[in-house]
Amino acid sequence: MTNPVTDYQHHWKDGTPLRLPLGKIVCVGRNYAEHAKELNNPIPDQPLLFIKPATSAVHATRPIVLPEGQGSVHYETELAVLIGRPLKNATASDVEAAILGYGLALDLTLRDVQADLKEKGHPWERAKAFDGACPLSPFVPADKLPKDHLTFTLDINQERRQTGDTRDMLNPIVPLIAHMSRHFTLLPGDVILTGTPSGVGALEPGQTLSLELERALFVETHVVENNVYPA
Ligand code: ZN
Repeated sequence: MTNPVTDYQHHWKDGTPLRLPLGKIVCVGRNYAEHAKELNNPIPDQPLLFIKPATSAVHATRPIVLPEGQGSVHYETELAVLIGRPLKNATASDVEAAILGYGLALDLTLRDVQADLKEKGHPWERAKAFDGACPLSPFVPADKLPKDHLTFTLDINQERRQTGDTRDMLNPIVPLIAHMSRHFTLLPGDVILTGTPSGVGALEPGQTLSLELERALFVETHVVENNVYPA
């Protein structure tokens, strides 16, 4: 169950390990209008999907190691959804029954590399899928959180940088996951990243990041220099 590259493994908030493998992390871009606007991106007419591999996952409680020599590394704080049942061509009720828990993730992005790839019309994997590109928090069981909407925040050095509210998503969680399941079979242990609200920016060594989900989950981490993953 443990990722051989990064030793990542799913955990519940109380520290109990989850006996589910992380297969893939399916992500959506531009799911909050304010964020699309801040990067001067048009809002897509259907969800903009991409995948981060299991090898990109690291525990969000560990220090964030910035890759070297690849330009700016941006944080994107996102609500993460842990899938507990297989989903293929799923209905809304299939999706609701499959959501095991919620956590927080950082969709780390090499913004300069991504800008270059976007300009060339190339895939984004070099910017989004590198080892360490997906710090993931422990998960809170779905039945322990409000049903109507969820809010989350990111503070850097105790200053508020991002505030997310699932009510502001262009593609709400359940229809989004149903849509994803028409393109990729989702398996137990897969994680969905639901897009970042506005306020993204570059990480710098020495920063302290504090993430919070609904007063139910708090995660603190630090940014350090040097890539521990050899090229
Ligand atoms: Zn993102």
